[in-house]
Amino acid sequence: MHHKKPPFVAGNWKMHMTIQEAKLLAAAIIQARLELSEAEIVLIPPFTALRSVKKLAGESPVQLGAQNLFWEEQGAYTGEISAPMLKNVGCRYVVIGHSERRQYFGETDATVNKKIAGALNSKLNPIVCMGETLEEREAGKTMPRVESQIQAGLAGLTPEQFREIIIAYEPIWAIGTGKTATPGQAEEVHAFIREKLAEIYGKEAAFCAIIIYGGSVKPANSYSLFREKNIDGFLVGGASLEADSFIQIIKEAIRAYKEEQ
Ligand code: PEP
Repeated sequence: MHHKKPPFVAGNWKMHMTIQEAKLLAAAIIQARLELSEAEIVLIPPFTALRSVKKLAGESPVQLGAQNLFWEEQGAYTGEISAPMLKNVGCRYVVIGHSERRQYFGETDATVNKKIAGALNSKLNPIVCMGETLEEREAGKTMPRVESQIQAGLAGLTPEQFREIIIAYEPIWAIGTGKTATPGQAEEVHAFIREKLAEIYGKEAAFCAIIIYGGSVKPANSYSLFREKNIDGFLVGGASLEADSFIQIIKEAIRAYKEEQ
C-alpha cells in the first residue's frame, strides 16, 4: 500500500540569523529546492527576517513559517505579534507550543489551544509541538503526557479545523541535545498520536494528518526516521542553520520516500 506522504521538512532557526545571514541561508535552500520538488519545505526564521526571506522565496514553493504568535488579532499587547500580521508578511505556517516556549516563556496546553484558534482564524496552518521530558519518559509517562497534550491543546477543534494542523512530536530530551530518538522510539509515539487522533477525529482524518518528528534530526538519521510508517517529516533546529545539512536531511527523506513508491 502506498501510504507514505511526501516529506514535510521545516527548519526552525530559533533566535539565530541577522537579515543578511537569513537571506544567504534562504537563498541556498530556495535554489536547492529546484531538485527537491517532492518535499514540502518550510523556513521558520525569526520575526525580523520573515519579510526578507519571503521576498527571496517569491513564487518558489518554499513556504514561510513563524516561530510563535499571540492569539489576539491586535491591541495593547506590547511585544507580541498576531496571526493577521504573520499572514500579511507571507507566512503559511506558525509553530505553536514549542518546548522552549513552554519551558522559558510559561506556555501551557491552554495557551497552545488559544494560539491554535488565533492561527486558524487567520488561515495560518499551526505546527503544534508536543513531547515528553526525560523524567516523564523514564517514569513510563510518555504516552499519557502526549495524550493530555492532544486532549488539552487541540480541545474544541472541529474536524475541518483539525485538517489544517501539523503535529510535531518532539521529545524534549532530544531537542538540541544531539540525542535523537531511535526510529523505533519515534515511531512508537507517532503511531500512538495517530491512534489518539483517530479516536477523536476519525480514521480518515488521522490517516491524512501530517505528524513530523523533531529532536536532533541530522543527515545521518533522516533516512531511517523517515522510513518509519507514521513519520511524515521533520522539524529541524540546529541542522537547519546550515544549508548543506538541511538540504541533505531533505534529500535523505526523499530517498526514503521514493523507495516506498
Ligand atoms: C527544534 O527546534 O524543534 C529542534 C528539534 O531542534 P534540534 O533539531 O536542534 O534538536
